[in-house]
Amino acid sequence: MAREVHLPRAMRLHVSSLSQGLLELLYPPACLACARVLPARAFFCEACDTAVERVPPNCCRTCAEPGTFPSSKCPRCHLHRPPFARAWAPFAHEGPVARVIHRFKYEDHPELAQPLGEQLAHEARSFLHRAPELLVALPLHARRFRERRYDQTQLLAGALAKATGRRAPMGLLSRARETQRQVGLSEAERALNVAEAFTASPAVAGQSLLLIDDVLTTGATARAAATALRDAGARQVEVLTVARAFSLTT
Ligand SMILES: [Zn+2]
Ligand SMILES: [Zn+2]
Repeated sequence: MAREVHLPRAMRLHVSSLSQGLLELLYPPACLACARVLPARAFFCEACDTAVERVPPNCCRTCAEPGTFPSSKCPRCHLHRPPFARAWAPFAHEGPVARVIHRFKYEDHPELAQPLGEQLAHEARSFLHRAPELLVALPLHARRFRERRYDQTQLLAGALAKATGRRAPMGLLSRARETQRQVGLSEAERALNVAEAFTASPAVAGQSLLLIDDVLTTGATARAAATALRDAGARQVEVLTVARAFSLTT
């Protein structure tokens, strides 16, 4: 609040801990997936926590598709080399993680960006250790932004940037045209749907970038976005998502 600016430092701290207390009262600690109220702040309740599935260590070295592959490369990456150096996610897109992503994206819960960003920072810490410093959110189309009133991926990238001391500037990547939702489309249809859907700012030239999204499925969207960034002169692109849908396994 603007009034806080004029208060002495000690009082400001007092006011800020008071508002923290009010926040706790208004938003008591709750499980991110099932919204059950918790005795202390945690990401998930006990039941959801035990149901969380992680991306297994045996996976494609480039795109994290689970499985054991010759030279650690899945058939998809082997056939068409991705425009990104590596893509990874800590979680499988299943159970409680799929639930929290759905709440964040479609059920008007922009406040989930902060805990999700913190959780991603924690779970992906070894990936982040040697990942690019500059974060770029996979952009939402203007029409969806109007419907949803928030851009969940930009909020997530902002929260991750805050948790890791990185930067997530806006405007580096934008949607050039509207695309259909990828859900329910075949792999070829997905690739066609997002081909040339993005344009990147000339400011990305010579930069290494970490592309942020919520879920990676076939990687068609990440490929299209990374291609736009590379075409605009980005030196290297890596991809980090909260969850990975396993698309080659049945
Ligand atoms: Zn729960
Ligand atoms: Zn792969």
